[in-house]
Amino acid sequence: MLIVKKFGGSSVADAERVMNVARIVTDSYREGHEVVVVVSAQGDTTDDLIAKAREIDPNANKREMDMLLASGEQISISLLAMACEKLGCPAISLLGWQAGFRTDSKYSVARIKKVKAERIRAELDKKKIVIVAGFQGLNKYDDVTTLGRGGSDTSAVAIAASMHADLCQIYTDVEGVYTADPRKVPNARKLSEITHDEMLELATLGAQVLNNRSVEMAKKYGIELEVLSSLKKAPGTKVKEVTNVEKMLITGVAKDTSIARIEIVGLPDSPGVAFKVFALVAQAHVNVDIILQSVGRDGTKDISFTVPENDGAKTVEAIREYCERKGATSINCDTDLAKVSVVGAGMETHEGVASKMFEALADANINIQTISTSEIKISVLIDRKDADRAVLSVHDKFFDNED
Ligand code: ADP
Ligand code: ASP
Ligand code: MG
Repeated sequence: MLIVKKFGGSSVADAERVMNVARIVTDSYREGHEVVVVVSAQGDTTDDLIAKAREIDPNANKREMDMLLASGEQISISLLAMACEKLGCPAISLLGWQAGFRTDSKYSVARIKKVKAERIRAELDKKKIVIVAGFQGLNKYDDVTTLGRGGSDTSAVAIAASMHADLCQIYTDVEGVYTADPRKVPNARKLSEITHDEMLELATLGAQVLNNRSVEMAKKYGIELEVLSSLKKAPGTKVKEVTNVEKMLITGVAKDTSIARIEIVGLPDSPGVAFKVFALVAQAHVNVDIILQSVGRDGTKDISFTVPENDGAKTVEAIREYCERKGATSINCDTDLAKVSVVGAGMETHEGVASKMFEALADANINIQTISTSEIKISVLIDRKDADRAVLSVHDKFFDNED
């Protein structure tokens, strides 16, 4: 079998952990499999590199940021290759560009265009374990790019897709995908299976365990993923198109605390205003999430919407001139906010999910500021300080009394 195994930063944080990963990888190799390994930077390396750059310039050139951040993965691939060799198995490490990762040119958020896997294939044919740096590729200018935080998951899925791997395993520091972050919610349950769609929602709504682009790609190419622990041998979670388990009402609860809300007060209540505001936001390459427009009164209306927290200031700058010219009395960026969501394919066919969620928040005396729903999710915006309590209360409401 051709197996792709991905190990996150905590799984390779120090020498002992690298040796542990090497044992998992070499065991699989000795069983006769072809093994391609994708690794992230060790522990907090990526955060530390970002901090180093900020000491010099908080708005450093993006090309140079990618050059810097890509170095973290170079350390872990070489150490892991040495560890595999030490355990008696031939291994070779490859940077993203050596492994054939070609991306678009958007530094820090590059998208993979293709993986030219000839080199990986040639090394596998030489009976080597191939260890690839996650999170990075090369653009058309032959410059190094990175794929966005958590991007190594996507690197692994891209290799699995382009090489038609038989198995794609994502090893991490928890035993699988849970009904909520197991580090925050002690009674969270491990899911044996989850659909791509539900996982995509959970990942997008803040469950860090898989990067949402990796799930999107897995769905597109019909790749089944397995999320499992690198530290404990236990069955993990299968992420697949259709699950065998009966549709659960709710699959999980997620929170996102890195959002900002832009509030514009006093825009004219006339056609084309919302269009212009969001066209300016789009031109600034900012993704908009929950949008709310007030009912018009006295010829004016208010618009609020959420964006990623890091894009808050940039968004205000992009719309300020237009909004002020149109008579807006204030434009605020509020970051004291969190989004808490419940996800589950079951809610398409069952009523009462929303009221149950709101009851849980009322029980915890948490005020809901905004509500947004889609077929398989309900999200609320609340004060950031209440986020952890909200997740616990909502999780308890849905999962505490079930067997
Ligand atoms: P890695 O370094 O392996 O990529 P991450 O830190 O990116 O690991 O993701 C794993 C973390 O995701 C876990 O330690 C856990 O705290 C967090 N997490 C958040 N939501 C969930 C969830 N629903 N199920 C499992 N883990 C979750
Ligand atoms: N090292 C990168 C990060 O910390 C990529 C990853 O971990 O997937 O975001
Ligand atoms: Mg990760």
